Amino acid sequence: MNEFNFIDSLKKFQNASSRVVRGIGDDAAVLALDGRWYQLFTTDMLVEGVHFTLKMPPVAIGHKAMACSVSDIAAMGGIPTCAVVSVGIPRRVPPALVARIYQGMHSCARRFKVSLVGGDTVRAGALTINVALLGEVEKKYLVARDGARPGDMICVTGRLGGSFASGRHLTFTPRFKEARWLVQHARPTAMMDISDGLAGDLRHILKASKAGAVLDERAVPCHNGVSVLQALSDGEDFELLFTLAPARAKVLARSAPFAFTVVGEITAASHRLMIKDISGKARAVEAKGYTHF
Ligand code: ADP
Ligand code: MG
Repeated sequence: MNEFNFIDSLKKFQNASSRVVRGIGDDAAVLALDGRWYQLFTTDMLVEGVHFTLKMPPVAIGHKAMACSVSDIAAMGGIPTCAVVSVGIPRRVPPALVARIYQGMHSCARRFKVSLVGGDTVRAGALTINVALLGEVEKKYLVARDGARPGDMICVTGRLGGSFASGRHLTFTPRFKEARWLVQHARPTAMMDISDGLAGDLRHILKASKAGAVLDERAVPCHNGVSVLQALSDGEDFELLFTLAPARAKVLARSAPFAFTVVGEITAASHRLMIKDISGKARAVEAKGYTHF
């Protein structure tokens, strides 16, 4: 069973409630709040040896822990508000190091106006940091993964691939400003952040939207020294992946206050992801995207 089948199997444990607008399956849960706003709720856990090592700068580890959750709130079109942070600390880890991690979390939180309002502290075998974050989004600006329609342009911010090897996974800027601009001016039909690689994450949008897609190999924006295959399959880019109605995509690409790239188009063919090479020939995408299991 892979990570995503496992998550699907958990859906049966959700208790239906009138407060739950959207439960398991998107970047954040969507909960009823008031007439104008939804509440968003997300959590992300970093584990020593899996997401970071103690050789990495502790301030950067803290930054990453907070930034992953901010990125998930942004991916729904929302504004992060309050966090609770739980840490599991092995005996061998000095308190000063944990304090440095908190400094990193704090400066990221301050930048995105997030208040730290609680948490939990326990002993653990490996250093573990969990950030649970609330956010809010105007109902009219909420963007989920299920709204992509055939003909929509598939777009990404920034460049992709090589995040772990380059250290970018520790220092990335969550695309909060970009996501807010998009929901206010571009009405994306679907949006998510790229945490498991473009191919893997696009498949989540395709599955939720019951659509297919064809990517243009030449258009995939790769970081220097990164192959298209790496750009499709490396995790932790934390760029935005979104779809735009075709009539608006070209104009928006010119008028947006940040660069984004059109990398392909949503098609009708159910659940299939294709890629077109330079000669225009389309083949099925092999890249799986990052999975923990
Ligand atoms: P992301 O990479 O955007 O943080 P994940 O791939 O971690 O998202 O999770 C996908 C969806 O599954 C999210 O809605 C998340 O809340 C849910 N999810 C993941 N793990 C669990 C779990 N152990 N229990 C319940 N829901 C989970
Ligand atoms: Mg996400």
